[in-house]
Amino acid sequence: MKKHLLLAFTLLVFLSFGHAQQSRNVVVFLMDGYRWKELYEGADSSLLFNKKYNHHDSAWTVTKYWDANLETRRQKLMPFVWETMSKNGQLLGNRNLGNFANVTNKYWFSYPGRSEAFTGYYDSAVNSNEYPDNPNTNVLEFIDKQPGFHGKVVTFSSWDAVARILNRNRNKMYVNVWGEDVKGDNLTPQQKEANLYSHLLPELFGKGERVDAGTYVMAKAYLQANHPRVLYIDLGDNDEFAHAADYADYLDAAHYDDAMFRDIWTTLQNDPFYKDNTTLLIFPDHGRGYGPGWTSHGAAVAHSNEIYFLAMGPGVPAKGEVKDSGQVYQAQYAATIAALLGLKYTAEHPVADPIKSVLK
Ligand SMILES: [Zn+2]
Repeated sequence: MKKHLLLAFTLLVFLSFGHAQQSRNVVVFLMDGYRWKELYEGADSSLLFNKKYNHHDSAWTVTKYWDANLETRRQKLMPFVWETMSKNGQLLGNRNLGNFANVTNKYWFSYPGRSEAFTGYYDSAVNSNEYPDNPNTNVLEFIDKQPGFHGKVVTFSSWDAVARILNRNRNKMYVNVWGEDVKGDNLTPQQKEANLYSHLLPELFGKGERVDAGTYVMAKAYLQANHPRVLYIDLGDNDEFAHAADYADYLDAAHYDDAMFRDIWTTLQNDPFYKDNTTLLIFPDHGRGYGPGWTSHGAAVAHSNEIYFLAMGPGVPAKGEVKDSGQVYQAQYAATIAALLGLKYTAEHPVADPIKSVLK
């Protein structure tokens, strides 16, 4: 009897300890088409010193982002990732170390990539950026249906297609995209300013794509006003500047994304609702080519299936830049998001297993 009591007590302690280590909330950033090469190697000399790809003051760009030392160079580009996440989080996908992350899908562009990441499943029928509402259930709507999460899973996206990728028509989740103000009678002054600010930015990329700074300030104001438990912020500047063969602005986009990561992390750690119980995740939808191929991606562009996965928070062992050989796939990201919240994601379609190394 005593033995059983002890066992029960041990089990209880183990379970409650395990629970305490889990994340209560998650913030996800997606960086559209940002390469693993800049993340892990910093500015690419073959592009940075090529006049063809630098339309501004290239000396200034070199001063900002170049250093002959790889570690210094990548830290100049993404200081928060290398000062904070590399110490307290886990960085997967540095191919130079034999640590691989790849998309499963055969398309290597935006809609199929996001669909794979959030449904946890590669559906070969989802083959176009113009694809209508996604027929497949995604992990965000799965989480939204769990006790304590309903109405607390929200998305802010620069690209309007994300409304179709997540199928907000079906699940009625709050998904704010290009061209939309945050509406409501009780907006905070900060939310009103964010709406205004988003209309003062140039429409650099034309119809359907809001500049990321606008998306970010709207998402942050929403977070502070409403305390969602899952916030997904989808950033598009990197992909747009790369397609325009504008390397200086592509680097700047990554640098300012990094500043957003730092700002949101600071905001979370200064808010009792989020402090020490929120995990930050960062990943792309697809990669891009190497050398002159950097401007493009898709099945015809080698290496644009190469991605990464960055995580930091109470549920994530602090392994830093993972130097072990390994392989993860984009389809695993969905179940990983759920598992960090203590949930086992299931859907009407197959779902890939979560990434074991980022779970305690
Ligand atoms: Zn693209």
